[in-house]
Amino acid sequence: MILDKFSLKNKVAIVTGANTGLGQGICWAFAEAGAKIVGVGRSDMTQTREYIEKIGGAFFEIKADLMSTDCVLPIVDGTISHFGQVDILVNNAGIIRREDLENYSMKDWDDVMNTNIRTLFFLSQEVGRRMLAQGKGGKIINIASMLSYQGGIRVPAYTASKSAVLGLTREMANEWAKYGINVNGIAPGYMVTNNTAALRADDQRSAEILGRIPAGKWGVPEDIGGAAVFLASEAANYIHGFTIAVDGGWLAR
Ligand code: NAD
Repeated sequence: MILDKFSLKNKVAIVTGANTGLGQGICWAFAEAGAKIVGVGRSDMTQTREYIEKIGGAFFEIKADLMSTDCVLPIVDGTISHFGQVDILVNNAGIIRREDLENYSMKDWDDVMNTNIRTLFFLSQEVGRRMLAQGKGGKIINIASMLSYQGGIRVPAYTASKSAVLGLTREMANEWAKYGINVNGIAPGYMVTNNTAALRADDQRSAEILGRIPAGKWGVPEDIGGAAVFLASEAANYIHGFTIAVDGGWLAR
């Protein structure tokens, strides 16, 4: 039956940046759909864990700094030794640094690129290797951005990294689709999280953004859950290399 294909029962999902924002929303939606969750991040994940355990789900926490690829093997090995398998990876963690173009520093560039695209690639590669060894496919979901499609202002490294996420999602899909590994993306619009705190605090920018969103409101983490569960599920088995916008209509404008 069709709704059964959306179930994530008996699946093990790694979600990076699980303590807050969109990553927390994805963890909660996955747990509601029946998945066991490995939350990865550098900050306290108590709030994420508490809801999952309250609804009878399983949550395992791995502390990691995703700015460096040193964390890749500990994350994947830790997942397999705790839950015995890995079926889903959501590359959600990401950072943004804002500065005028002429003053943008190499440190900000490197920090953003290392977190948003370098670690994303090498973590996906390692998880993909394990999925290939398991021989039953898998799902990799990369969190992109409106700046995978547009230029943005004062965020050159973020735009470069998120544009790379869109291209890499297609590239990985091309190589692994034949093994039943679906690599897809979600491009959130303007959502109420820490990532957009500076924008929302700027009355003028905030009003400009809101005025351009056809839905007439900023998104919230719960808005991402449906697309994430869908792409992580059997219902999306023939979707490869596509990035779904969850943006209140922003890109349609
Ligand atoms: P957020 O700042 O609340 O969350 C970012 C998450 O990444 C946090 O859990 C943080 O701890 C984690 N993280 C960052 N650097 C890390 C590191 N070095 N090691 C471990 N964890 C690290 O913002 P969010 O909006 O929830 O962001 C989630 C994803 O969504 C990001 O990739 C972001 O670029 C993307 N996104 C957000 C929006 C938006 O409007 N909020 C729009 C488009 C894309």
